[in-house]
Amino acid sequence: GLKKHFPRKTRGLIPRADSPVKAVDGISFELHRGETLGIVGESGCGKSTAGRTVLQLLAPTGGTIEYLGEDITGVKGAKWRRLRTEMQMVFQDPYGSLNPRQTVGAIVGAPFHIQGIKPPKGVKAEVQDLLARVGLNPEHYNRYPHEFSGGQRQRIGIARAIALRPNVIVCDEPVSALDVSIQAQVVNLLEDLQNEFDLTYVFIAHDLSVVRHISDRVAVMYLGKVMEVADRDELYANPQHPYTQALLSAVPLPDPRKENKRDRILLTGDLPSPINPPSGCVFHTRCPKFRMELSDADKARCTGEIPQQREIAPMHEVACHFPGAPKVEILELEEVPE
Ligand code: SF4
Ligand code: MG
Repeated sequence: GLKKHFPRKTRGLIPRADSPVKAVDGISFELHRGETLGIVGESGCGKSTAGRTVLQLLAPTGGTIEYLGEDITGVKGAKWRRLRTEMQMVFQDPYGSLNPRQTVGAIVGAPFHIQGIKPPKGVKAEVQDLLARVGLNPEHYNRYPHEFSGGQRQRIGIARAIALRPNVIVCDEPVSALDVSIQAQVVNLLEDLQNEFDLTYVFIAHDLSVVRHISDRVAVMYLGKVMEVADRDELYANPQHPYTQALLSAVPLPDPRKENKRDRILLTGDLPSPINPPSGCVFHTRCPKFRMELSDADKARCTGEIPQQREIAPMHEVACHFPGAPKVEILELEEVPE
């Protein structure tokens, strides 16, 4: 039931209590030890805010966060400092997330200083080990971020995130800003580190193929809400929510001969504003099923009643009153000779 509503400011910068921006509006998911949970959705769906709110880098405005069975919502002081060592973040922008005036050694060593932790070998040796572990030259300890490429900078951000041996890392679009050729290297590094250090990831992305590659389970977000959560293979093979179906139908297939065999489900209209989200199901203004398949009585339910996340099969949750495969015609292609 996690929420993050941002108050809107009027011109006088006085927060308005009415109509906040509902960036995250009552989402629920579990995160299992050692897994990667992918969070996908269009930009503006609230996935980054969700990631930051889960780590309480942003204070939630509703709902709870439980960690190892304990409610940690709003914890403060020493307890929070200890929890912070267990939960870290890798940011999207490998340029903006590193202080340009600090050396790599200072950046990667900062978590030790902030937490007052003295590694047995000393901070410098520890940082050099971390740099080597993420594929950077430990001798480059005294260099500055601008002396590194985008992929190398993201490795620096990853070294900083694993410095204190956390349990959970939220990766917010960690490869979106990188060249495609570099993306796979960084994803592979994250996977290696996960195995080596028994890490649990929340992996936020808008790229469905990257999410498919790295995730064990996937949550699909739209306008501040979770539309569907399922095992990766189940979600990609058997999407039950009209939004997930539309997202997946837009992904190009690797085999161009097959591509025409797949119907594209087109989303019409713009993403509505999270200040005044549509009534009932927030997706109803763009839902192909609503537009093409439902009776007026069913439509009234979509516009009048908010669909809750509910389990329709084991470990498969959908927030839709009418889940199930769409009735789209599959275009038959002439057989193409091999
Ligand atoms: Fe579409 Fe209605 Fe389901 Fe919303 S509840 S996704 S409008 S069918
Ligand atoms: Mg984002």
